[in-house]
Amino acid sequence: MSVSSARTVEGGNSDQRWEAHRLEAVAALDILDTSPEKPFDRIARLVKAALDVDTALISFIDAHRQWHKANVGMDDQQIPLQETLCRHVVKYGGPLIVQDARQDPRFAKSRLVTAEHGLRFYAGIPLKTRDGFVVGTLCAIDREPRQFPARDLDLLQDFADLVVDQLELRERAMTDELTGALSRRALYDEGGRLAALTSRHRHNLTAIAFDLDHFKSINDNYGHAAGDEVLRRVAKTVKLLVRKSDIFARVGGEEFTILLPETDRQGAAEAAEKLRKDISALRFEFDGTTVGVTASLGVAAFDASTGDIETLLTRADAALYKAKNDGRNRYAVWGTGDISVRSARRRVLKAGKVSFNNGGSSIDCTVRTLGQEGAGMDLISTADVPDEFRLIIRSDGLDASCRVTSRTRTHIEVEFR
Ligand code: GH3
Ligand code: MG
Ligand code: MG
Repeated sequence: MSVSSARTVEGGNSDQRWEAHRLEAVAALDILDTSPEKPFDRIARLVKAALDVDTALISFIDAHRQWHKANVGMDDQQIPLQETLCRHVVKYGGPLIVQDARQDPRFAKSRLVTAEHGLRFYAGIPLKTRDGFVVGTLCAIDREPRQFPARDLDLLQDFADLVVDQLELRERAMTDELTGALSRRALYDEGGRLAALTSRHRHNLTAIAFDLDHFKSINDNYGHAAGDEVLRRVAKTVKLLVRKSDIFARVGGEEFTILLPETDRQGAAEAAEKLRKDISALRFEFDGTTVGVTASLGVAAFDASTGDIETLLTRADAALYKAKNDGRNRYAVWGTGDISVRSARRRVLKAGKVSFNNGGSSIDCTVRTLGQEGAGMDLISTADVPDEFRLIIRSDGLDASCRVTSRTRTHIEVEFR
């Protein structure tokens, strides 16, 4: 698992630096908040049946929560981090077997244990990337205390190895299964080749980056399957518009990039506007309601100052953020107006703290986007967060005074002051 862009992290102690790199490894998987996938579901079902337990989970450990990619037998899609047992597997880096959690002072007070029909038995195996980072766990849970003989542990370990194999297969895939778009890896491979040709022969090359607006609300209001349907139709719309020689890739949940060889800035801006219109004209029927969707787009053209594909994509992203800030459902072009790399935000996955009441209160969060002028973060709930607070990212030595610019139930966007 190597796609994460290595970035030096300044400040923080070695635990925090290790955790920061671990979170980069989780981010590189691009798996959080994605839809169920059959191979993972199948493994979880097999674990439940083979070990005869109530619950089997394939979990990934984010900065503020445990999120379940596969979940057989438990209602929650995610659990606040401090309540989970899996986080101990991440901390120890090895298997954790708890025969009766009531008898274990580490877990006896956890909400999962004290709840009615609470957890008694737990066996968790770390899911380790090739670089040695524990990104999550495969675990078996039961409401009754039980023994866990060595052969059961071996079996669970074999299943965990299968999960890791599946993660690697998923990462190597050149196309995205849901949308048929190229993967991020394929985009960088192809993009690097095109950028080299472009600098050598002075061909035109442009990039359009786009992101669906308020996509989370579609999932929240109509369910994940509805969200998937939107993603498929949007991808289909793009494929109808682009040329055969264009490169179309899904780079994140609802974020896409198109590379247009032999197209100049004006041509790419026209394509972006056409795409904006076509996407906004799509109509979906969910739960008897007609639903539409819009996108924000950023355009950048390769020129003498660009140099490489990463820079081209960063500039397209900066333009995309400008389009979002200007009100969404529009496109912006790098090199016009006041768009700068300063305003661009990188997609990150970092452990943060939202701190207020003069440091008297703090809430864990996962920072998802970060730039020099602001950030976006996820929380279990944003209800208690005031409009002004400090954001602390220990691993980066960041402590910034923030003003909220938008919020949903679980997400906050801020501007640094
Ligand atoms: P904005 O206008 O600022 O872009 O808001 P947004 O809600 O679109 O942005 P955000 O990045 O917060 O939300 C993206 C959501 O996409 C979060 C996640 O639940 C969802 N998502 C990611 N991958 C998938 C997927 O494969 N299928 C579905 N249905 N949803 C996905
Ligand atoms: Mg997004
Ligand atoms: Mg979006």
